[in-house]
Amino acid sequence: MEKLYEKGLENYPKSTVILTNALLLLWFGLAAYGMSALKFAGLPIISVLYLLFTLAMLGFILRKHLCTSCYYYNKWCGSGWSKLSSCLFKEESGNYELGMKLAGITWGLLTIVPIIVIPITMFLHREFLMSGGICLTGFLAIMAINQLGRKKGCSQCKMKYICKASAAK
Ligand code: SF4
Repeated sequence: MEKLYEKGLENYPKSTVILTNALLLLWFGLAAYGMSALKFAGLPIISVLYLLFTLAMLGFILRKHLCTSCYYYNKWCGSGWSKLSSCLFKEESGNYELGMKLAGITWGLLTIVPIIVIPITMFLHREFLMSGGICLTGFLAIMAINQLGRKKGCSQCKMKYICKASAAK
């Protein structure tokens, strides 16, 4: 059984929490806007489904199955989502193995769908070429920044030897 990383942060700074969430909000916003010109029955259904899926998985389902058994439950982790989890769910009330599988699927879909759909949207709606291009470029840039931030965040984390999603093992 791996141990906690003793020198890890007890609580992450609030500035990290704010920056992480602001960056992710911008990321999801760019994705949703970049796909919004693709409409069905006059509605940007893919963008709406994308945002609803994001909210359901990141706001609730993963918070239950991942964060309720994390060291940071009811503390400030880098995203602040452990705090959110403690407001919504009881400690140890989730299924960590299920959470890890769902996290892989969730982040995979949140990344892949815009990368496929935004270019299709640009191809079908030439008037959206410039806006779509800006969204896609911003989306990819934030993805890269987020990866770097994740490496740094995980390297300061008490769970870095235990967590299967750690980017700093
Ligand atoms: S190791 Fe990384 S992914 Fe795992 S709990 Fe810590 S910050 Fe989150």
